[in-house]
Amino acid sequence: MRTVKILFFVCIFSLAAFPANPATDNNEANKIIQAALQPSPIQENLRRLTDEIGGRVPGTPAMQHAVQWGMQAFTAAGADSVHSEGFEIPNSWSEGATEMIVSTAHQVSSTSIGGGPVLSSFRARAVSVAWAPALAPVKHVPVVDVGEGSEADFRKAGDVSGKLLLVHTTVLKTWADLFAEYSNAPPIIDRAMKAKARAVAFMATREHDILYRHTNSAAGEIDRLPMVIVAREDGERMARLLAAGNLVWADLSIPNQIGGPIKTSNVIGEIRGSERPDEFVIVGAHLDSWELGTGALDNGCNAALVIDALRAIKSAGVLPRRTIRFILFSGEEEGLLGSRNYALHHRSELDRAAGVVVYDSGTGKTTGFSIGGRKDVLPTARNLIAPLQQFDVNDVKLDMEWGTDHFDFMLEGVPTFVADQEEANYLENYHAVSDTYDKVDFPQLKKHVAEAAVLGFELANLSEKIGPRLSHDQIEQTMRDTNSVDMMKASGVWDEWESGKRGRQK
Ligand SMILES: [Zn+2]
Repeated sequence: MRTVKILFFVCIFSLAAFPANPATDNNEANKIIQAALQPSPIQENLRRLTDEIGGRVPGTPAMQHAVQWGMQAFTAAGADSVHSEGFEIPNSWSEGATEMIVSTAHQVSSTSIGGGPVLSSFRARAVSVAWAPALAPVKHVPVVDVGEGSEADFRKAGDVSGKLLLVHTTVLKTWADLFAEYSNAPPIIDRAMKAKARAVAFMATREHDILYRHTNSAAGEIDRLPMVIVAREDGERMARLLAAGNLVWADLSIPNQIGGPIKTSNVIGEIRGSERPDEFVIVGAHLDSWELGTGALDNGCNAALVIDALRAIKSAGVLPRRTIRFILFSGEEEGLLGSRNYALHHRSELDRAAGVVVYDSGTGKTTGFSIGGRKDVLPTARNLIAPLQQFDVNDVKLDMEWGTDHFDFMLEGVPTFVADQEEANYLENYHAVSDTYDKVDFPQLKKHVAEAAVLGFELANLSEKIGPRLSHDQIEQTMRDTNSVDMMKASGVWDEWESGKRGRQK
């Protein structure tokens, strides 16, 4: 996605506080770690995915090429079987040549509406918000500063109908800031709609002219009004002009191309279980990305990780009791669509799912795993990550994390494990033109391959599954225990949960 992480710091159980009893054969874990840290095709695989194929939006040829890339790379890594599973997204979307020319003039007098001669015009750097509607070329749209877009800010701005609303933002520094960027926008769009604004320009949350793709669409639907991200420096200039009492207007064109339903695919490579092949663990990451950059940190590096985790287990010569399904999901950025679809279509076999491991935060160091509020799996989870202490992976967090591909499995009651990672260089490059191969920390990524492979293997190799599939009521209780209900309501997921549209059925 969007990779929004909502972190409820309910409780952190660290290995430092709870000395672990190694539950599994450390010898096998160590063999896998050795194999993961060996030279491998991961760099070359990621170079091909990012530099040669590029940004991967579902419905584009690049995404189709990426699916082929995944099938080939899984085969080369030694998968017992490889296949893809298609699904539909409601709309295709791509950006045209977005243009925003900003002009300014002195106000002739504070009481007159007209302006004096144009002082300057400049081309503001701007990109459309993803899955937002197009706007036919329109000239002389008055710009109004609506502060951070609160109810009070809108009242202060007065009549904004037909205008372009400039919204202030803060620079992205932490996971919490990223969550705020996603949660702040929908109420602003509500107010803009109600006030009949022409369009909204959000100031970029990155400095130095960095532009990035953002979406507020939750399930691949087209948004309600035209929106752009304007380069922070241009946005601040517009705000200063307005604050100085100048008239500011924009000539705006957002020729997005929007089409009907499109097909895209998840890619699955398997290692078949030796004793209970019908039971399975999922090790997953999304393969799709935005297209301003080449989707290296989000999430090409982790797609390459999933493939290399399969290779590491195979080359270590160890055999898991259960099957491991290594899955590259599509449509994650449009609202977790690939994993949601997979969970829905495999619902009848989720009683046999023995855990889901997901990586989706670039190459910042892993600190531990979030386990979806599952107190029952906590002691075993601590044991399973004991071999990863050498990488400083120590924490098991009892929170229900949101915003990546474990989510619909968590709502189905399956035990989930999302890697918690340091921000590192992820946020400044998030969904941006600068999310390219050169940003990837490969020595760190190889450690993550080891972690994902070890955890996936151990979950598949336990004598009993790490935990049962929770019932509808147990999942709901877990939401309450982790204070997740308000977040679910704010994001609209609660209604889907209550109505049975999403998650474990009653
Ligand atoms: Zn992502």
